Amino acid sequence: MKRRDFLKKTGIATAAVVTATAGIMGCGKKEEKATGPAVTQKTYQWKMVTTWPPNMPVLQTGAERFAKRVEEATDGRIKIQVYAGGELVPALGVFDAVSDGTVEVGSGASYYWAGKVPAGQWFSSVPFGFNPQGINTWFYSGGGLKLWEEVYAPFNVVPRPQGNTGVQMGGWFRKEMKSLASYKGLKMRIPGLGGKVVAKAGGAVTLMPGGEIFTSLERGVIDATEWVGPLHDLRMGFYKAAKYYYYPGWHEPGTCLEVIFNKKIYDSLSKDLQLILDAIAMETNLWSLCEFEAGNGAALEELINVHKVKLMEFPPKMMDDLRKLAYEVLEEEAAKDPVSKKVHEAYKKFKKQVGIWGTVADSAYFSTIADKYALRTK
Ligand code: CA
Repeated sequence: MKRRDFLKKTGIATAAVVTATAGIMGCGKKEEKATGPAVTQKTYQWKMVTTWPPNMPVLQTGAERFAKRVEEATDGRIKIQVYAGGELVPALGVFDAVSDGTVEVGSGASYYWAGKVPAGQWFSSVPFGFNPQGINTWFYSGGGLKLWEEVYAPFNVVPRPQGNTGVQMGGWFRKEMKSLASYKGLKMRIPGLGGKVVAKAGGAVTLMPGGEIFTSLERGVIDATEWVGPLHDLRMGFYKAAKYYYYPGWHEPGTCLEVIFNKKIYDSLSKDLQLILDAIAMETNLWSLCEFEAGNGAALEELINVHKVKLMEFPPKMMDDLRKLAYEVLEEEAAKDPVSKKVHEAYKKFKKQVGIWGTVADSAYFSTIADKYALRTK
């Protein structure tokens, strides 16, 4: 039996063994004391449920990657079995399952539980709000994550950012979107606060998990949908049911995906395990954004060149109108409960603190190299 396995089996803390061995080997020398905290050898077998369709790249595979790396980093002390949406609990029932302890871990996006935690929506995506850089900055350097923890704590849930989709696409439509009025009577699948904006513009908004969207669009249950960006939208096959593909995704300019832990379980872990979970969540957050960024461009070209999708930009006047409407909706939604109000005010305050930096830096820079990134059409 390997020494490490022996330690695991006997449950003897490494530090204690090192101390004892040093005493024996020292033969009369003064006993050396090991420093640092003892590492617990307690092991955990967890279940993780997600909102994502099976094998969905970056989303479901990201959750699986998270589980694998946690097992590796903890040397097998935490093993996580991952289930896709609907395999163990309903896709939109992830938050409840983690909250009540049915499972230990979950993965999704906070706008999926808006019915239960309306204030949570600000932590996934805000229409005309932060891009990935901005929302991550709010989380890690602007107090956003601490506030998110406060919002989820009454539900016995601990959140961590676990991924980011980048700026999403505006969605798939069967008709041209010429003005705000184009949303009137439109049956569209669109989640979160962006969905509230479309509803205020007169749309009939529905929320359904990823696995149900294509069939609904194909059968005409909905007229339009949004999902993520080219990489994922291509895989979903939406181009077979709608030809107009609009940008930009004003409703989801940098959506944060989350990993959530049952708080009682998370709090009971030794510090080293908590740090490992946090660190793997953080690196998965970065990895996920990079995967989207790496794949979107080529997927967009395939949609246009192979599947003859019409790439369309929302007209400037329509974007102006949507932005004004979005700001109204955000105030209305924030006024509905004190927690939402608190989060909304914190978000606005940080947005003000960041100020025009993104305009001076990123957008000005990108505008100078726009021609080099021009779409290569065949
Ligand atoms: Ca989306």
